[in-house]
Amino acid sequence: MLRLDSDIQYVKGVGSRRGALLNSRGVRTVGDLLLRIPRAYQDRATFASLASLRAGQDAAVHAKIYRTRAIQTHTRGRILEVVITDGTSFAYAKWFHGGSLSMARGFTAGRQIVLYGRVDRDNRESKLVFFNPEFELLDEAEETPGSGSLDVGRIVPIYEEMGGMTSRQLRRITWAALADLASPLDDPIPPALRSEHGFPDLRTCLQRIHFPVAGDDIGELNRRASPSHRRLIFEEFFLLELVFALRKRQSQLARGVRFETSDAIRSSVKKILPFHPTVAQKRVLKEIVEDLKAPHPMNRLLQGDVGSGKTIVAFEAVVVAVENGYQAAIMAPTEILAEQHYLNAKRVLAPLGYSIGVLRRGIKKAEKAKLFEDLAAGNIQVVIGTHVLFEESTVFRKLGLVIIDEQHRFGVIQRLRLMAKGDLPNTLVMTATPIPRTLAMTLYGDLDLSVIDEMPPGRSPIKTIHATERDAQDIYGRLAAEMQKGRQCYVVYPLIEESEKMDLKSATEGFEKLSKVFEDRRVALLHGRLKSEEKEAIMRAFAAGNLDVLVATTVIEVGVDVANATIMVIEHAERFGLAQLHQLRGRVGRGSQSSLCVLMTPMKIGETARERIDAMVATTDGFRLAEVDLRLRGPGEMAGTRQSGLPEFRIANLMEDSLMLAIAQREAKKFVDSEDQVQRLLKELSARSSSITPAGLVTVG
Ligand code: ADP
Ligand code: MG
Repeated sequence: MLRLDSDIQYVKGVGSRRGALLNSRGVRTVGDLLLRIPRAYQDRATFASLASLRAGQDAAVHAKIYRTRAIQTHTRGRILEVVITDGTSFAYAKWFHGGSLSMARGFTAGRQIVLYGRVDRDNRESKLVFFNPEFELLDEAEETPGSGSLDVGRIVPIYEEMGGMTSRQLRRITWAALADLASPLDDPIPPALRSEHGFPDLRTCLQRIHFPVAGDDIGELNRRASPSHRRLIFEEFFLLELVFALRKRQSQLARGVRFETSDAIRSSVKKILPFHPTVAQKRVLKEIVEDLKAPHPMNRLLQGDVGSGKTIVAFEAVVVAVENGYQAAIMAPTEILAEQHYLNAKRVLAPLGYSIGVLRRGIKKAEKAKLFEDLAAGNIQVVIGTHVLFEESTVFRKLGLVIIDEQHRFGVIQRLRLMAKGDLPNTLVMTATPIPRTLAMTLYGDLDLSVIDEMPPGRSPIKTIHATERDAQDIYGRLAAEMQKGRQCYVVYPLIEESEKMDLKSATEGFEKLSKVFEDRRVALLHGRLKSEEKEAIMRAFAAGNLDVLVATTVIEVGVDVANATIMVIEHAERFGLAQLHQLRGRVGRGSQSSLCVLMTPMKIGETARERIDAMVATTDGFRLAEVDLRLRGPGEMAGTRQSGLPEFRIANLMEDSLMLAIAQREAKKFVDSEDQVQRLLKELSARSSSITPAGLVTVG
């Protein structure tokens, strides 16, 4: 008997050699195999006779190969042409391009073949022809239609080829796996939930999703909308949302650090405000303060577009923490941003005289030891750093608030590790990348959400244009004009890790060129390889207006805030992701003057790159860009989420199945309200293999 966690090589017809191949494709267990569901279904229950075929119809035919030949053409490469007959008539099948020729060996006269596809009329020969149809060669003397075979006479599953195995071979081993699979299986979805939503039990579901029975709706199957499909999609979402719901409940029950507010504290908060907060800023601060005063630790996501003013809200929260006698930590995704926050914190919090520390990567040993000492002793009230801050065995005297900026760079896992530090400090996660709601629910399902949906007043819109190398002179002219008005410029070069050297070279060359073009201007080069002090010095100089042009790699992507910079040129814009472009562009348009963003690309760019550029030119609305991004890239690659621990679904699709996600979230919330159910389920899940659970999720619950 096989179980879902049985090794794949024990499935009949697999063995150790194929097993190794499948392993290399991530299929290690029977469960892995069975969760690779068919990519399509074909109705081969009824075959059309060749005599009955009409051009334009989709048909499955079962016939014999009459003749095969390869034709060399000028325009289409080699074409494999096969004539088939079923005794009622003849028809053609043609496969374009040489690659398919490798199949030719199997196409011997007399062999049985099943074809599925659109019937066309071949112009020259007025013969009926299938162009590039799906096909399967049947074995000699094998299965005749309707004899209960796997390949004909039924709705047939079509699989993505994998590890050198054809769809037909995969069909066989899948069948074999199901034949030997234990019954029933532990089912993570409770019976009541199943019957409420009309979901089959897990065992039935796996059988039916691979081998539908007569009468199953083929349209539904192909839309992934059959009860079995819906069940598996629900299950993936449900387990994920369950973990989130549990975690949320746990932290609600937990006793965290509890803050008070008073008139004195309120006036301290006011002291740091350099401007009137917007209505949205006031609202989110209120939400945050409510959390801080509640007995359970805060777990909140602060979402707001680039430039919407999240930083000051974070500092307000810091003031509440420090005035309550606690320490606050701010975690930034890059050194530069940590630097920026540090400078900012010193400036903004100056009226309150807090002692502020910063942990840099390149920090000297003695300096670091002193910092840790001060943190442990409570001499430092606010500390800023990158993730290093929490990887080290940092000890705080009284950590009461953790702020994580630009969350899209951090993963769920990192966040958990951080929350595990100390006694559940209040956590505020800030993200400038407005993620579509569906994605937010998966990535941050355990967080409460606050949104800044309003820009500070007096902003002038950023104009965005697309330019190519040809326009270089014109662009230089625009840069010169801005500088003439006393404004500053960014010129950004891509920095992609694998080719860091090459990119650095192009940034360096760009810097040299611009230094020549703008001889009488102050031009500087900023990149990730510089020492912290050098970076800091350059940033300071630029912020103070002592530099005119900042040539930079994407180290300036997030957080850098210089209102007098009004023009940004992004070189090789085609190489940036949409989220990144939006982030970069957010560095300008921070003051009251109108700003310009120039996206430079070569003359010829790919289609997706073109769509990204078009979207950037069309809108500055981060939410709309995020939607476009999700559509263009697919959720797996959103904003570097692959590294950041966004669970990858096997069956569910965030874009298509958002409705089911909402259902699953609702059910999960209901579910965790019943203590018994939760205990039972946790026990079951921990005993089970992870084969059907989103990787790594159950273990963290
Ligand atoms: P982000 O949300 O991208 O982190 P910042 O917090 O860096 O945005 O704010 C962007 C700029 O807007 C900063 O220069 C900040 O000082 C300014 N700002 C923020 N809130 C206001 C406000 N209510 N009125 C005027 N300027 C503001
Ligand atoms: Mg910011």
